[in-house]
Amino acid sequence: MTFKDLKLIEPLLEAIAKQGYTAPTPIQEQAIPHILQGRDLIGIAQTGTGKTAAFVLPLLQLMSQSPRRIIPKSPRTLVVAPTRELAAQINESFATYGSFMRFRHTVMFGGVSQGAQVRSISKGVDVLVATPGRLLDLMNQGYVNLNHLEFLVLDEVDRMLDMGFIVDVKRIISKLPTHRQSIFLSATMPQKISELAKTLLRHPVRVEVDPQATTVKLVQQKVLFVDERNKITILLKLLKHEDLKCVLIFARTKRRANNVAKLLTNQGIRAEAIHGNKSQSQRTRALDNFKSGHARVLVATDIAARGIDVDDISHVINYDLPVDQIDNYVHRIGRTARAGARGTAYSLCASYERNALREIESLIKMNINVMSHSFHSNTARDAVGAAARPPPKQQRGQRRSNMNRQDKRHYRSK
Ligand code: AMP
Repeated sequence: MTFKDLKLIEPLLEAIAKQGYTAPTPIQEQAIPHILQGRDLIGIAQTGTGKTAAFVLPLLQLMSQSPRRIIPKSPRTLVVAPTRELAAQINESFATYGSFMRFRHTVMFGGVSQGAQVRSISKGVDVLVATPGRLLDLMNQGYVNLNHLEFLVLDEVDRMLDMGFIVDVKRIISKLPTHRQSIFLSATMPQKISELAKTLLRHPVRVEVDPQATTVKLVQQKVLFVDERNKITILLKLLKHEDLKCVLIFARTKRRANNVAKLLTNQGIRAEAIHGNKSQSQRTRALDNFKSGHARVLVATDIAARGIDVDDISHVINYDLPVDQIDNYVHRIGRTARAGARGTAYSLCASYERNALREIESLIKMNINVMSHSFHSNTARDAVGAAARPPPKQQRGQRRSNMNRQDKRHYRSK
């Protein structure tokens, strides 16, 4: 299938060609025709699947086919996203895919002063992309009026739930006109989320792409059994290899993320840290340094890494395994297999993380190759397979995973 087959209009096809996309991704193929027909939609897809273009392209088309004059404070389209980074990226996507069209768009999120955001929404925009807190704040101050809204997108709803935004989101939705087209996107669909979807959508079409199957297949995964005290030494050894060009490292806490970035910097490895305690300008600077290649390493916590859209991440390193929420493992390694690219993920597994590792392996339905510590002197000596696996310390099932059964089913690769 081509983008032309999706009946997209010429200015969009031109913008798509400029991006070098040759064919729609599965979520685009499935979602675009329904959205163009005016249907409400539930999309189960995670970042990296092309989900942003799956709603931005048809919404731009629908708006251009029924032009409306700009109304100050009153957007036609509202996209709500959980993080500032994701909101900024969605806003950029509107600029990219709409570069041959005339329309106005803006983004609002917290952590920066509201002046510029208030000025641009006061003049009027077609598209507003926002995080829930700042949007609600500006609505309460009377700067945003959603009475004339036509299209609503809620992106990464499961993250919004995790981050405690659902009450804010419900408040925002209570102010919207009932006659509207709504699109609801989430990487997982636990019961709480499908109940919310039911209250928001009218006879929705459900489209689903299975990211796990692709992610798990595309990423070369390796685990190193380490002593907690040696993690930083092992990390430094890994980073000696030059093919680790653009590396995203995950740490369990903000403090650990900071420490790792500091230790790497002290060793002459250009590293940035990104987490919730950083100011917006620090986060933007860190991300820009990483994207431009000025910093080779970005150390992040799970929440901060949400919505980071960097295409060329060559390696993901789990400095810590996501012991509290094992499904994050798949989100993390998916960062290095964006839009069909191949990547490598290393996991440093200390003894207290072995149970989590077993749960991850049962989730992705495969054993992760074990890499011996001698890798730094001779990569060919990688010990692969269960033989190098230390004996289990605890019985499977002693630790409860945070995922419900429905999530697990969703994550199983086919
Ligand atoms: P998303 O899942 O929206 O975060 O998109 C992931 C990445 O895929 C982005 O960097 C997009 O630029 C890219 N992308 C989106 N659609 C396509 C496509 N049809 N072909 C190739 N790359 C795409």
